[in-house]
Amino acid sequence: VRHAVTTNLKDIIRTISDYPRPGIEFRDITTLLGDARAFRRAIDELVQPWAGTKIDKVAGIEARGFILGGAVAHQLSAGFVPIRKKGKLPHTTVRIAYSLEYGVDEMEMHQDAVRPGERVILVDDLIATGGTATAAAKLLRQIGADVVAACFVIDLPDLGGAVKLRAMDVPVGTLIEFA
Ligand code: AMP
Repeated sequence: VRHAVTTNLKDIIRTISDYPRPGIEFRDITTLLGDARAFRRAIDELVQPWAGTKIDKVAGIEARGFILGGAVAHQLSAGFVPIRKKGKLPHTTVRIAYSLEYGVDEMEMHQDAVRPGERVILVDDLIATGGTATAAAKLLRQIGADVVAACFVIDLPDLGGAVKLRAMDVPVGTLIEFA
């Protein structure tokens, strides 16, 4: 008798030490994405709290948020909106600066990507300090979006990002923690 293999989602995420810099434990989700059952389970779990509710758009943060966000949008029958590094989007954009570990960067989205009052879920693979996601949430609010939630496969709770998002009244959903 073969028993169903219940692979833990956490076990299928690959950790690369000292990438891209010494001291960083990089959580590589390509191993999860490449596993059909794990990918489906991750998307099902991200979507589950919103099943049956009206979500107009899913906003994904470049680049891994595109992969997850596209699948989440499809499953919720919502549209998809890319939030990108500056200079990549062809039409009129709104832009916001945000801090990285070293220095600052800017992200942008098309100004007409979300209409005022539309209900939007923000998606990325991982939340660490929350610098990226809080900037993305601010950008969405700047064009009038109702940011219903932010969802991540991985939370690094020691870095406090989820707390920052909740402090801006953005509910946060995460599947896995690495403490
Ligand atoms: P932060 O703005 O500090 O919350 O960083 C989140 C962004 O950086 C996300 O887009 C992640 O994909 C990426 N990131 C930060 N830390 C890691 C890590 N340890 N492993 C993989 N990706 C990370």
